[in-house]
Amino acid sequence: MDFELNDTQAMYRDMVREFVVKEVKPIAIEFDRKANAEDCAPLDAYRKSLQQGFHQMVVPVELGGMGLDAVSTIVILEEMAAADAGYATTWHVNNVSLTMLLNMGSVAEAGTFVAQIMAGNGGVASLSTTEPDGGVTSALLIDPANFVFKTRAVPDGDSWVINGAKSFCSNAGLPFSRWILTFCRVNDKTGWASTMPFVIPPDVPGLTIGAEEDKMGHRLSSTRSLIFDNVRVPRANAIGSGGRAMSGGKRRTPYDHDTAIAAISIGCARAAYEEAVAWARQREVLGRPLIKHQLIQAKIADMYIGLESARSFMYRTAAYSDTHDQMDVRLSRAVKVFASETANRVTNDALQVLGGMGYCKGTFTEKCYRDVRVTPIYEGTNAAPRISLAQLIDAAVYA
Ligand SMILES: Cc1cc2nc3c(=O)[nH]c(=O)nc-3n(C[C@H](O)[C@H](O)[C@H](O)COP(=O)(O)OP(=O)(O)OC[C@H]3O[C@@H](n4cnc5c(N)ncnc54)[C@H](O)[C@@H]3O)c2cc1C
Repeated sequence: MDFELNDTQAMYRDMVREFVVKEVKPIAIEFDRKANAEDCAPLDAYRKSLQQGFHQMVVPVELGGMGLDAVSTIVILEEMAAADAGYATTWHVNNVSLTMLLNMGSVAEAGTFVAQIMAGNGGVASLSTTEPDGGVTSALLIDPANFVFKTRAVPDGDSWVINGAKSFCSNAGLPFSRWILTFCRVNDKTGWASTMPFVIPPDVPGLTIGAEEDKMGHRLSSTRSLIFDNVRVPRANAIGSGGRAMSGGKRRTPYDHDTAIAAISIGCARAAYEEAVAWARQREVLGRPLIKHQLIQAKIADMYIGLESARSFMYRTAAYSDTHDQMDVRLSRAVKVFASETANRVTNDALQVLGGMGYCKGTFTEKCYRDVRVTPIYEGTNAAPRISLAQLIDAAVYA
């Protein structure tokens, strides 16, 4: 078993680290602190990121993308999140939206809609499952036979007509948003049998993209609600096969949303840890640097242990996916829960090491503390992957 990155993975890590240290980290606090949530997305940094090809991470090589393995994607996301977790989430949401399209759609569907992301200077995709009424994102994981979306799509001639509302849609309001993969109810069945994803252009008549959510953290990431009022899309925008990879078809990309959230959690906590260690080295208390005091040493050791154990678990989960050409969903569920909760503890400890300064706006740790708080909430609150994990263990799905 080898936990070293190979040359290609290390090259991606170094390339992305160099980019975000120059283009994202220096502006992260400034954009985070903008009073109006509408101004928080750093559009120039996002456009420069498109020039780097960050929107193509999971796009297969045969469709003109980078076709990255699972380990490379999480290594990249950790680096992005160490600069700003909201910035990393923008690229994660693009990755996961493309992954759903690629792994659920036909060859023709994947080709058409991936080409829209790749066209011109590049753009980003969104994924919309969450609805204003509670529980559906949890139910997707813990009750896949019985959940239902309230947003409905009805066939009408050569179109589908969509009505309903979605909440917390990342990326949809960005000027370079190309489409939103929106999950709708299409019949009176329940669970996945009732559901179909639709590719929605952000400028389609009848779609209202709401105001920017005024979030406590992740402010560089754009999050908006959607209202569908007789939105009409062509039949070709219905991603028809309804779970090709999920029902045993070969996946086109190994990207995994749970392991991605682990990477964002770890990157964000790492940034706070690094600031706390630097602070403890230079801050003197009772004639000695803080780092020479044993209670601070214990905290720093605990932070290190947390980060290394979460990262090792994350590498193992992603490496399993690459070497077996399929995920072990138990590992994915477990690493999302473990890394997000560990990262919250590490960031909390880092803030404590900074003392009163950690509680003040302007330190990176204060921003990370707010940014990391969402990691046990989004992509399904941690209650859902926990219950899903127990169900998988009970069903003995994996050897
Ligand atoms: C910054 C940010 C970005 C996001 N980006 C996206 C995005 O791009 N696309 C998207 O679709 N969504 C997105 N979300 C939404 C996110 O995935 C949901 O907020 C999350 O999954 C929780 O769903 P909810 O808010 O509806 O909470 P609810 O489902 O209302 O849950 C509230 C509480 O009830 C608990 N609960 C729910 N169901 C059950 C149950 N059956 N049994 C016991 N307890 C239960 C939950 O654990 C939680 O504690 C984003 C959210 C944020 C904050």
